[in-house]
Amino acid sequence: MATYDQRDGYIWFNGELIPWSDARVHLLTHALHYGSAVFEGMRAYNGEIFKLTEHNQRLHKSAEILDFAIPYSVAELDKAARDVLRANKLTDAYVRPIAWRGSEQMGVSAQKTKINVAIAAWDWGAYFDPAARETGLKLTFGKYRRPDPATAPVHSKAAGLYMICTIEKHRAERAGFADAVMLDWRGRIAECTGANIFFVKDGVIYTPTPDCFLDGITRRTVIGLAKERGIKLVEKTIMPEELGGFTECFITGTAAEVMPVASIGDYQFKVGDITRALMADYTALTHHETARTKVAAAG
Ligand code: PMP
Repeated sequence: MATYDQRDGYIWFNGELIPWSDARVHLLTHALHYGSAVFEGMRAYNGEIFKLTEHNQRLHKSAEILDFAIPYSVAELDKAARDVLRANKLTDAYVRPIAWRGSEQMGVSAQKTKINVAIAAWDWGAYFDPAARETGLKLTFGKYRRPDPATAPVHSKAAGLYMICTIEKHRAERAGFADAVMLDWRGRIAECTGANIFFVKDGVIYTPTPDCFLDGITRRTVIGLAKERGIKLVEKTIMPEELGGFTECFITGTAAEVMPVASIGDYQFKVGDITRALMADYTALTHHETARTKVAAAG
């Protein structure tokens, strides 16, 4: 497969669809030097993007938190994302919007930089080995911690926050694990490097309160699915030493979808009924809801 900068297709770049390989930025781009970028990750199923508007709203919010305004409305971004899918003849794909500060100014101050926005889409199969849908993922604990909200803009999907995620993902992969579970600045269970985490005990689902990490769109969707099934769900502080008491564990994210966890370090979990039910519900919802959106749009 060609590298990501040299593929066929079209990328929406500041309002226009341009050939994929022409979507370039200069070396002296503020975002590259100072991390002034925010992004989204969405998935299309059956030609429709799941939770499209929520993702573009979050992109706006992420930018606002980083002190910039996206020069396109959420509705314009929704249309642009759909145009990208169509231009690339994709139906099941990953869609990546990104907004970043340009080259008009260097230095910490970036008041005069232009805000650029682009949207790319590509065929991106399962984020984790699909065999793990049956066996569960093997995870390890990361060393870096999710930062205190007083230290970093933790509720923004800001590019800079992924610096520690990439380090932890690499450390986990090198040691033979699929991903790392990161604690927060207080030592509580927080999330994985690109997904939220849930646990099950005695028929009740537990998940950490998202007070210093992303309250994922998939996380909220799965909480809704659990409620529809009448499963009790509790958001609370979860300490690593409590993990021995849980029987099931799963993670959620747009790219990851819903994936069971077999182990975190020495803690073992089974791929149980609640995890299986929510995996099936999520698959059904992403496929049916997007099919419904498509019918509504056509009608
Ligand atoms: N946490 C992190 C660090 C992530 O990168 C993601 C993926 N965007 C999530 C959680 C899950 O968010 P979502 O369900 O909105 O994709």
